[in-house]
Amino acid sequence: MIKNKLIIVLGAGESGVGTAVLAAKQGFDVFVSDFGKIKDDYRNILINKNISFEEGSHNRVLEIMKNVGKETASIEVVKSPGIADSVPIIKSLREKGIPVISEIEFAGRYTNAKTICITGSNGKTTTTMLTYHILRNAGYNVGLAGNVGKSFAMQVAEDNFDYYVLEISSFQLDGMYSFRADIAIITNITPDHLDRYDYKFQNYVDSKFRILQNQTENDFFIFWAGDSTVANEIEKRGTNIKARKIPFDLTSQTDNVPNYAFVDGKDIIFNNLTNKLFLEMETNNLPLKGNHNLYNSMAAGLASQVAGVSKDAIRRSLETFEGVEHRMEYVATVRGVRYINDSKATNVNSCWYALQSMTTPVVLILGGTDKGNDYSDISELVSDRVHHLIFLGVDNDKLIKFFGSHRNKEGKKIPYSEARSMEECVQQAYKVAQNGDTVLLSPCCASFDLFNNYEDRGRQFKEAVRRL
Ligand code: ADP
Repeated sequence: MIKNKLIIVLGAGESGVGTAVLAAKQGFDVFVSDFGKIKDDYRNILINKNISFEEGSHNRVLEIMKNVGKETASIEVVKSPGIADSVPIIKSLREKGIPVISEIEFAGRYTNAKTICITGSNGKTTTTMLTYHILRNAGYNVGLAGNVGKSFAMQVAEDNFDYYVLEISSFQLDGMYSFRADIAIITNITPDHLDRYDYKFQNYVDSKFRILQNQTENDFFIFWAGDSTVANEIEKRGTNIKARKIPFDLTSQTDNVPNYAFVDGKDIIFNNLTNKLFLEMETNNLPLKGNHNLYNSMAAGLASQVAGVSKDAIRRSLETFEGVEHRMEYVATVRGVRYINDSKATNVNSCWYALQSMTTPVVLILGGTDKGNDYSDISELVSDRVHHLIFLGVDNDKLIKFFGSHRNKEGKKIPYSEARSMEECVQQAYKVAQNGDTVLLSPCCASFDLFNNYEDRGRQFKEAVRRL
C-alpha cells in the first residue's frame, strides 16, 4: 500500500463513487470533485464512508494542484467517462504531469478475477448482458459491470467474483494503460462520438483497439470478421496483436479465413478452439431477432465457450435470453400498429440495423442531439421502408435539410412532422400510422436536448404509447 498517495476522483456518479469507495478501502487519501450537483444517493455513500468531496465546482482540486509543486507523483486522478479530455481541468492536470486514468484501469489493479471485456460501436450492452446471462446460468461466480449496472470499482471493493463481464466504452478505454483483458470482444466499429475524437474516425478506432493492449498469446480476441473497419485495422496491426484471434461472421469463412461461429442455412454453428463442431442450434430458437443479434449471440457464445461453459448451458441460455430494455423493445400493438422502442439507437448505424429488420411500412422517429451524424447510410432504407418521418428534437434543422425532400422508392416525397415532446410525437405517430405499420423510435441521436438520457426517452415513449 502506497502511503499518503492521493486519489482525486472527478465526477461523482456510479463510476466515480465506486472508485472513491475502492480507493478509500485500499488506504489512499481520497477526494471527490463534481462540477455539477451530486445525486443524493451518491452523496450519502460518500458521507457514510467519510470521503471528502466538493460539488458545483472543481475549486478545491485547483487549490490542491496549486500547492502540489513537484510532488505530482503522489497524486493520481480517476476521471469519470462522461468528462471529455478537452475540459479545462483535465488539460491542466495533464500539463502538470498528473496521471489521469479511468475507473476500469484503477479497479483492475485490485482484482485477480478473469475479465471478459466488450467494446464496439453497437451491441455492447446486448452482448454484455447475454454473456453474463450465460455465465451466471452456468453457475459461474460472475459480476456484471462497466457501463451497465453497479460500477466495476464498487464490486471490486465489495464483492469477490471470479469473473467479470465488462461493457467498456471508448471513453473508459481512453484512460486504460496497464489493464489486460483475458477475453476481448469488438462487436463492430462505425462512426460515433466523433465530437470527442477531433472528428477523426481513426482516433475513435484506435480508442476501441486499446481493448487489446497488454494481451498475450494466452488471451483471446473475439471479433466480427465481416466488419471492414475491424478487419483492416487487424491487418494493419499484424503481429502487434498477440491474443488468439476468434473471428465470427454470417458465413463459414471471411476472406478465406475460417470463422469460429457462423450461420449455415437455418442453423447457427459454434466451433471449438480446434475449429471442430461444438454447438449447432436453430437461429429460430433465438429470442433476439435480426442479424445484429445473430452477431451478438455469436460473440457471447464464443466468449462463454472460451471461458469453459458447456455447450448445453450455452444453448439453454441463448434460448432463454429476454433482451434488454430500449433495444428494439416491443411496446404494444394499438389498432393494428406495432410500437417499438429502440431509444438506445443513439447513432446512425444502430438505426440502420433497426430499419433493416423491419418487415412492415414504418413511421420513423428521429432526432435529438446530433453527434456529427451522416444520414446517408440510412437514406436508402428510409426510401424503402418509411412512409412518414417524425423529427423529435429541439433543433431539427439538420434532419429537415437531409430528409425534408426525401423521396420513397416510387419517387414520392416522404412527409415529415416535428415534435418537441414525447406526448406530441406519439400523438402524431398515432395519427399518421396505418393498420399493419410499425412505429419505430430509433432516433440516431443522443437524447439530452429533451430528456435526461435515452432511458428516460424510452420510458416516456412507452408511457405515451400505453396512454393511446
Ligand atoms: P451499445 O451498448 O453498444 O450501445 P446496445 O446493445 O445497447 O449497444 O444496442 C444499441 C443499439 O444498437 C440498439 O438500437 C440495437 O438495436 C442496435 N444493435 C444491437 N446490436 C447491434 C450490432 N451488433 N450491430 C449494430 N447494431 C446493433
